Amino acid sequence: MSMKIVKYPAKSLLKPSLAVSSVDMELLEWTKKFVEFTQQPLWGNLLGMAAPQVGRNIRLFIAMGRIYVNPVLKWYSKAPMDFCLEGCYSLEEKKYDYPTRRYVSIILQWEDLTGAKFEERFNGKKAQVIQHELDHLDGKLCVSLAELEKSGIITKETKTNDRTGNKRLASKVAPRKG
Ligand SMILES: [Zn+2]
Repeated sequence: MSMKIVKYPAKSLLKPSLAVSSVDMELLEWTKKFVEFTQQPLWGNLLGMAAPQVGRNIRLFIAMGRIYVNPVLKWYSKAPMDFCLEGCYSLEEKKYDYPTRRYVSIILQWEDLTGAKFEERFNGKKAQVIQHELDHLDGKLCVSLAELEKSGIITKETKTNDRTGNKRLASKVAPRKG
């Protein structure tokens, strides 16, 4: 079985993923394949990828070379937020540079595949990458609300807790993908 990227507007990208309740051999092997998949040169400067992007709706992502299982945002800095332009491997290349707002600083808790627990503070770019991947686990993409609404995939209710803006911003921030 070879992995491939699930692309927007697949509905599985827009639904919340389930917690990993136990790590068995099957999941270990699958995660190994996932890591290898993300290490392919074709991705260029890959900062992160989330399990739902390769067809498995579980709360696991890879970011900056580490595997995060059941990540939970424990704290975030409120205002001011960073404005970022983001791309995503699940969205069409180059066509999308979506303006998003991200917390500048976060504290994340997560587990590794052995069940060991971690907690760490991330700032700036790293915090941005983690928030992008966390969004994937909650079924959110950096695609604009306007696009989603136009496609009929989200309704007004789904919209209320989305923190992405739908206005294009002239920004000098380098786009990232994840
Ligand atoms: Zn993404």
